[in-house]
Amino acid sequence: QLRVDRLVKSFSAHRALEDVSLEVGTGRFLVLLGPSGSGKTTLLRCLAGIERPDGGSIRLGGVTLTEGHTHLPPERRDLAMVFQDYALWPHMTATANVGYALRRRRLERAEADRRVAALLERVGLTARADRYPHQLSGGEQQRVALARALVAEPGLLLFDEPLSNLDADLRERLRVEIATLTRGSGATVVYITHDQAEAFALADEIGVLESGRLVQHGAPEDIYHRPASPFVARFTGLAG
Ligand code: ATP
Repeated sequence: QLRVDRLVKSFSAHRALEDVSLEVGTGRFLVLLGPSGSGKTTLLRCLAGIERPDGGSIRLGGVTLTEGHTHLPPERRDLAMVFQDYALWPHMTATANVGYALRRRRLERAEADRRVAALLERVGLTARADRYPHQLSGGEQQRVALARALVAEPGLLLFDEPLSNLDADLRERLRVEIATLTRGSGATVVYITHDQAEAFALADEIGVLESGRLVQHGAPEDIYHRPASPFVARFTGLAG
């Protein structure tokens, strides 16, 4: 279970997050929706530990990630993140990129290799395993990033607009792969998008951010049929 309590984050005078509280049950898929500048990425970066909030707390599975003076660094959090721009190591092959996520696990070499190969197979990249990122298409690079995120079996998976650099066709296919692979993993997912159709296709729960505040959090049908404000209605109305 992920539990965020009264999170606050400012950049100089600008409040990027204003008193955000939310709970996500283990294995649930939460999509954060909101316009540009509403605080989605800042919230995700606070969860990841890349950003340090000014106040509030974050707990994952009973472990305090952030509270007061406690601030676990990203590498000590049981989570993995998938970025819009893939963020693969350019000097490493697909296999090495995925294997890198296992570097802190005390696994036998053979076991690590087996896991990496199994993940690359699940994302359909066995034939491309020895290629470098520049030798892969955008969709293939994002599949490598997905395999890297899943290989260490983290409790929390964070996605920051992972499909927004891909064309519509590929977006649709990768969306299905992400749904299948993450649901099979048992991980809790927090997924950012500003594509309403993508949000409704993927989510167990949707959280809507407006100017740094979480203005509604609920099941997709609740958000759609019972929006908490005109803003939510306008922003999630699929008609735009
Ligand atoms: P987008 O959809 O455009 O990515 P977002 O909802 O993810 O937007 P954030 O990136 O979280 O929004 O930004 C929230 C607010 O905080 C914005 O007004 C942004 O300009 C500001 N902000 C974010 N990071 C910084 C930073 N490092 N320094 C100063 N201001 C920042």
